[in-house]
Amino acid sequence: MFEQLGLIGCGLMGGSFALAMKRAGLVKRVIGYSKSPTTTQRALRMGVIDVEAPSALLAVSGSDLVLLSVPVAATESIFRSIIHIIGPKSTIMDVGSTKQDVVKAARSVLKDKMGQFVPCHPIAGKELSGVEHADANLYKAKKIILTPTERTQTEHLEKAKQLWAALGSDVHTMSAAAHDAAYAAVSHLPHMLGFALMNSILAQDDSKEYLALAGSGFRDFSRIAASEPKMWTDIMLANKDELIAQSKAFRRSLQAMEVLIQQGQHDALLELVTKASKARVGWKMNDKK
Ligand code: NAP
Repeated sequence: MFEQLGLIGCGLMGGSFALAMKRAGLVKRVIGYSKSPTTTQRALRMGVIDVEAPSALLAVSGSDLVLLSVPVAATESIFRSIIHIIGPKSTIMDVGSTKQDVVKAARSVLKDKMGQFVPCHPIAGKELSGVEHADANLYKAKKIILTPTERTQTEHLEKAKQLWAALGSDVHTMSAAAHDAAYAAVSHLPHMLGFALMNSILAQDDSKEYLALAGSGFRDFSRIAASEPKMWTDIMLANKDELIAQSKAFRRSLQAMEVLIQQGQHDALLELVTKASKARVGWKMNDKK
């Protein structure tokens, strides 16, 4: 049980975390700070937070658990603004979608408090952002990836593991580098392709007619292109090297199919499509249910 959660970023992910922690009886009080007061006022009205903090610093003051739930690009400046108030026993976590950049920001600012920081990425979310979409069940039966560094203290890592498990999450640990490589392939590239597909259609004269004719295949493929633009711009830039490597691998795969289609090579094309189809049929989302 934590005495006080200092929530920095009262949006979808942070708001859902606060609601889940309260419902599980894991925290007595939540004090929240967000960039705009409208957000914290809404979070207060919704019962996501109990107290509004006028600054990140005041949200951290007296908090034995601190969660950064902000765009990853804001991580370093927030660490700078709270470093002096972080208590010696407080556990600090984030929920950013990329991990090497977050760890780098933490290393450059936290120094002797680095051991208290447990980088986290919940494999949960929605296309919708904002506290109004916060959901106490968001993390239930979903994977949470922890990427502790060599400096992370066991005490804080164990606390983080226990609290996520108590929220119903399926806890995994790996290095930040392994995390970023994997999620470039299975999350960041698919989002990039979704955005690129929408734009390639929109660039055509008949795009309106095409989109009006689209069915469920298009709906399923393009769903994630509706994701929050600022957040995804941030994520793609933060994981630039891994994402470009995946994009190049994808282009090679696309190119190979284009050549076979162009040359009318039925059997070779069928082989590629069968391989992909079998793999997709055999793939199961590895979430606890
Ligand atoms: P969100 O709903 O837009 O919430 C972000 C919150 O951060 C907003 O309340 C915003 O405040 C606040 N904020 C932005 N800059 C800030 C700053 N400099 N100082 C203090 N507060 C600031 O976004 P989200 O979906 O919760 O995403 C939060 C984090 O979760 C991101 O790092 C993202 O990569 C990660 N994540 C998201 C998902 C997903 O599906 N959405 C999944 C996994 C991980 P205002 O409302 O006042 O602007």
